[in-house]
Amino acid sequence: MATLPEHSPDAAAALWESGWLRQAHRLPSPNFGPRPEGAQIDLLVVHSISLPPGQYGTGAVQQLFTNRLDWDAHPYYQGIRGLEVSAHFFITRQGEIWQFVSCDDRAWHAGISQWRGRERCNDDSIGVELEGLEGLSFESAQYRALQRLCAAIAARYAIRYIAGHEDIAPGRKQDPGPGFDWPRLRQRLGEQPGTAAWEFPPAKA
Ligand SMILES: [Zn+2]
Repeated sequence: MATLPEHSPDAAAALWESGWLRQAHRLPSPNFGPRPEGAQIDLLVVHSISLPPGQYGTGAVQQLFTNRLDWDAHPYYQGIRGLEVSAHFFITRQGEIWQFVSCDDRAWHAGISQWRGRERCNDDSIGVELEGLEGLSFESAQYRALQRLCAAIAARYAIRYIAGHEDIAPGRKQDPGPGFDWPRLRQRLGEQPGTAAWEFPPAKA
């Protein structure tokens, strides 16, 4: 997958079906809507999440994104009770890739946000959540999975920018946080066609 040509129709068809990545674990979320007409999907937003925070492999993130989380199961959930959110993708600590919303649709991951001179980043971005906690590090399997995912996305969507949630919503959001190794990702993406020209946040170049 790492050598796919950029925006190749054949490669895209092999990888994607109506905005769903064939190789991902598919768990459709009700939390999505249409993208605005004419939206140019050119941004990938990197997030981190774990539920309860700092606990991995609980299945709670998948439950949250599909409105099936038991709000009474943990005290932390009281603070997010009723929250209806989603992301296109979630990468577990083991590097498993889950998908909740078709990339052709608008997922609810960014909130109030601005990047490359445009607001409402949910309109024209793809959101990827890494299982983790702000400030802590991520697993090698997650970087490998993210690289593969970026290559697949590049075969289908004309992404030009990649940024963290903390970059598009500064002061309001801190994920994925200082434990995420942006230079490591940049080196990986720089080594494959389709992603080599993606623009990183200036401070993370
Ligand atoms: Zn986030």
